[in-house]
Amino acid sequence: MDIESQNSSQFFSWDSLPEQLKSILPLRHSYLIKNFNVLSPFQTTKNFEIPQFELDAFVDIDDKEKARKWFLSFESKSKTTMPEFRHYEIKGKKVLFREKRHCIHSKLVKEKQGNRELKRLQSSQLQNTNCAATIHLRLKFCNIELSHPLEVNLRFTHNHVVNSAESLSF
Ligand SMILES: [Zn+2]
Repeated sequence: MDIESQNSSQFFSWDSLPEQLKSILPLRHSYLIKNFNVLSPFQTTKNFEIPQFELDAFVDIDDKEKARKWFLSFESKSKTTMPEFRHYEIKGKKVLFREKRHCIHSKLVKEKQGNRELKRLQSSQLQNTNCAATIHLRLKFCNIELSHPLEVNLRFTHNHVVNSAESLSF
């Protein structure tokens, strides 16, 4: 494991990531991890244990198209579906890209039935389990010169099975 001095965070090549992160984070990127907090697993009614963790990290991505691509491969790798319920208006030049996404099983699903992204999904897949999982992506102009500009705040706190046929891939 290499240590990078930038913000006293730890630098990880994809290969050196902890197993839990390897199973959800896209390949061919390196990660600068500020905080990786493993929480106690969630137990479903059928006694499945769902791993829970929080991750604050930076990724070696410096433009918004690559950020979108990264997110899509995160979705397919982690077998989660996380639509954007409210789009942030990006004002001024400080932020190049910003998206906050919630799990498809969050309570916001019912409130936002008119959402374009949700219309593609079948209603049987829109189960509201009140899931609190979120991902927040930010690409700030002031970070663009750094080796890892894209900021990712992930709350991987799903309260349902994620790696099953129940989840979707686009
Ligand atoms: Zn969820």
